[in-house]
Amino acid sequence: MSAEYEYDLFVIGAGSGGVRAARMAASTGARVGIAEDRYLGGTCVNVGCVPKKLYAYASHFQDNFSDAEGFGWQMAGPATFNWATLRDNKTSEISRLNGIYQRMLEGAGVTLFNARARLLDPHTVSLVSQGSETQVTAKQILLATGGWPWVPDFPGCEHAINSNQVFDLQNFPNRFLVLGGGYIAVEFASIFNGLGSETHLIYRGELFLKGFDQEVREFTCEEMAKKGVNLHFNTNIERIEPNGTALNVHLTTGEVLEVDAVLAATGRRANTEGLGLEAVGITLDASGKIPINERYETQVRSVLALGDLTNGPELTPVALAEAMQLVDTHFNKTEPKPLDYATIPTAVFCHPNIGTVGLSEEAAREKHTKICVYRTDFRSMKHTLSGNTERVLMKLIVDDETDVVVGAHMVGEDAGELIQGIAIAVRAGLTKRDFDCTVGIHPTGAEEFVTMREPSRY
Ligand code: FAD
Repeated sequence: MSAEYEYDLFVIGAGSGGVRAARMAASTGARVGIAEDRYLGGTCVNVGCVPKKLYAYASHFQDNFSDAEGFGWQMAGPATFNWATLRDNKTSEISRLNGIYQRMLEGAGVTLFNARARLLDPHTVSLVSQGSETQVTAKQILLATGGWPWVPDFPGCEHAINSNQVFDLQNFPNRFLVLGGGYIAVEFASIFNGLGSETHLIYRGELFLKGFDQEVREFTCEEMAKKGVNLHFNTNIERIEPNGTALNVHLTTGEVLEVDAVLAATGRRANTEGLGLEAVGITLDASGKIPINERYETQVRSVLALGDLTNGPELTPVALAEAMQLVDTHFNKTEPKPLDYATIPTAVFCHPNIGTVGLSEEAAREKHTKICVYRTDFRSMKHTLSGNTERVLMKLIVDDETDVVVGAHMVGEDAGELIQGIAIAVRAGLTKRDFDCTVGIHPTGAEEFVTMREPSRY
């Protein structure tokens, strides 16, 4: 501990990574302060994972209601959906979580400032709250300010909303349009389609979810189209014009769509505005992120950074894991093993869900001399009675030389829940033989992961 400074660690941004780092550092006896100018819990809790998953749950009920009929259940009348109930219940839940975050920080002995923070020098932070400024000094400063939605400039782009705004729409959009091809765009297209909007997804590329396994992308595309999402690839928005309370969206194909809301899910940028990076001499890399070394140190050694602000997968568990490593490195003085970024599992909560870990088939072909692909697609047992035409895809990618499973992919109900377990096996470097020697759980869809005997292709 240093008497020279008021804090041993001062964290800017109380999101996923910042809160975890602050609490863990405080638990080692360090004097820790944290500044947050918007909402405790950051993107994930307030405008990311949590509200999105709640809305994803809501959107699955439509399928559940119609699936139930084949099992003998009759609804008294057609199911109706009330947007205000969902939105306001979501807001109450988030307030509850905000309170938990506050209590966790206080309980850990972290001093919380509701203030906008800016670097003044390598050890000093300016805090502005309700027009008045204070300054604090710290031996180390952690930048954990996350990302911010980015919307491209085109005529009428001011009529589009971003992912921060979509959760709190005043009125439910009966006609909804999403611009973008990343996982957030795909998820919101599924969510609003499931909630009952006539939904369009516009993406300038050939197929959404770039970087995911090609077969997973194609399969998801077919399933989403079957569920009624209107997919427009190789298309962009030319302009948006207001039309009373609606919006006319002119597409590059010449088509004009009349909708009630346009969500631009067109990417996120590191949230560095007004952070004072120039005051201390920190420059951004080519992708607009803050460069760090393996000890999470920026170009200025006393200033650390993690999470969405830095390069790497923009995921909450990644920010949390980085926070743990950072604290181990700087406060527990251990040398943690570097994070294994190659086997980070991830899910896309579209309909049906995607769960994935490790290499795509395409990446595996580039990396390994020869691979075996085991794949199956089928209608789940549940849908033999429901009449639902949804199908499931499961895929294992195996390095032929070592028999190690280097990638596992699934599109289907609860794929994220299932792939989390498979990710342990992939992370551990288990072989296809290990999968084959594992007895299945019957009757489940998951047992297919241990019963795919013959490769589908090499
Ligand atoms: P954040 O959580 O963004 O926290 C940064 C905090 O810093 C914010 O609270 C901000 O207000 C504050 N801040 C910024 N500047 C200042 C300043 N100058 N002074 C004071 N405070 C400041 N990840 C998943 O793992 N699973 C998902 O399903 C998932 N879904 C997502 C859905 C959406 C719509 C979005 C947008 C993101 C989603 N993510 C998901 C990503 C996840 O939310 C982020 O990876 C994670 O929140 C990053 O954490 P962080 O600590 O880097 O930053």
